Amino acid sequence: MNSIDLLIFDCDGVLIDSEPLAARTLAQAVTRGGLPMTAYDVLVEFTGKSEPEMRAILEARGLENIGAVFSTWHAEIFAAFRRELKVMPGMAEVLRTLDVAKCVASNSSVTRLKASLGLLDIWDDFAPHVYSAEMVAAPKPAPDLVQLCLSKMGVADTNSLLIDDSPAGIAAARKAGVRAIGFVAPGDPRPGRRKLLLEAGAQAVALGAVELHKLLGEFVHKRQPVQTSVGGFGN
Ligand SMILES: [Mg+2]
Repeated sequence: MNSIDLLIFDCDGVLIDSEPLAARTLAQAVTRGGLPMTAYDVLVEFTGKSEPEMRAILEARGLENIGAVFSTWHAEIFAAFRRELKVMPGMAEVLRTLDVAKCVASNSSVTRLKASLGLLDIWDDFAPHVYSAEMVAAPKPAPDLVQLCLSKMGVADTNSLLIDDSPAGIAAARKAGVRAIGFVAPGDPRPGRRKLLLEAGAQAVALGAVELHKLLGEFVHKRQPVQTSVGGFGN
């Protein structure tokens, strides 16, 4: 098996615990716009989708004044990020113990990435290598964004590995010839995520950061332990 020289991380639902905030605020905005949805409905239907895709689906379902609904949503989700957004539990420790190049491949817009990941210390683990679907012709599940990561980072597909919590991201990796690991956030209320990610082509699925750290250890060289403890992630 080839060694792994590049880890490509999805952002929402992997690096940052943003999906519950996004689902709650979008459900409220869409419901106020006249199309009742719960946060759970949003999680099931829209996780991993780009905003143009979400707009098209809601428009087809009869939601009016989409522009106004989405600008209200943006104001509310960005405020929720400023108040409540946290790094996915345990993920900062995972990032700092893996001695390998890393980048982000997200279906979120550049503006949203700056207003979410950009608020947190782990931004510095990636910047300037934070890539958005806005930078390519088609979002995940098309391979374009993964291919952009490979070319920007100068690493071959066979030496890269992508981590994503949505089948679209796993499919994008596979189409680009990149191996993929599925991620399920602890507390994700949706059933059957592991199966869905495996069916999309993930070679393994991690439930939470500790499991992810163990899985990645099979592929990636880990940094030598330093004097400070990395709490719970023993080398
Ligand atoms: Mg995601």
